[in-house]
Amino acid sequence: MSERGEEVAARLAEVRGRIARACGTVGRDPDEVTLVVVTKYFPAADVRILADLGVRDVGENRHQEASEKAAECADLGLAWHFIGGLQSNKAAAVAGYCDVVESVDRVKLVNGLQRGAHERSHPLDVLLQVSLDPPEQAENRSGVEPADLEPLARAVEDAGMLRLRGLMAVAPLDHDPAEAFDRLAAIHRDLLAVHPGADLLSAGMSGDLEAAVERGATHVRVGSAVLGSRPRVK
Ligand SMILES: *Cc1c(COP(=O)(O)O)cnc(C)c1O
Repeated sequence: MSERGEEVAARLAEVRGRIARACGTVGRDPDEVTLVVVTKYFPAADVRILADLGVRDVGENRHQEASEKAAECADLGLAWHFIGGLQSNKAAAVAGYCDVVESVDRVKLVNGLQRGAHERSHPLDVLLQVSLDPPEQAENRSGVEPADLEPLARAVEDAGMLRLRGLMAVAPLDHDPAEAFDRLAAIHRDLLAVHPGADLLSAGMSGDLEAAVERGATHVRVGSAVLGSRPRVK
């Protein structure tokens, strides 16, 4: 294996160990938690290394970079998760190659996603990104306010080619992630009461995946803990 391969393999094993230990803490089966490795800023060669190591799910946050990498890696049969801020004029294109769009935070995105999924003749899995930011940080947040979640969920469910699969969230900066993920779990329970199929919960990153797994995350999105620190400038 290449030197990079060895490095990624070691980091990946460590992250899988962290997930397994967090599951152990609360009596969950580690198979319930899907590791999405966030490959943004890293080359397609790293995606190949990850696929060789058994990773099936990768996450990207920019359309241009994601579409190129997904095309280069089309032979690997990976599931591509879009986890970044999405412009409505890019939504149809993103639905053309992604398997899951995790960052749906406004009704305006629904039409484009529906059109892209329809053109591809393939239903698209959608997670709604919910904001956990406290009011004073709400300025440049991404994510729908919990109070506005239900109309968005209904719009996604009413779009024939979209499948409402659950929620995604990022813990607020400089706050206790455990408290934020407790709130997220409660929001998810409320959503599930109305939309029982929305059973996925994407939460937890390199720094806080244990707190998320302990509170029911079915997906963790981990970048730097697996691939190292990202190049600062792209
Ligand atoms: C970059 C990113 C991640 C991964 O962050 P790390 O701290 O590198 O694990 C997870 N989720 C989202 C939405 C991201 O943009």
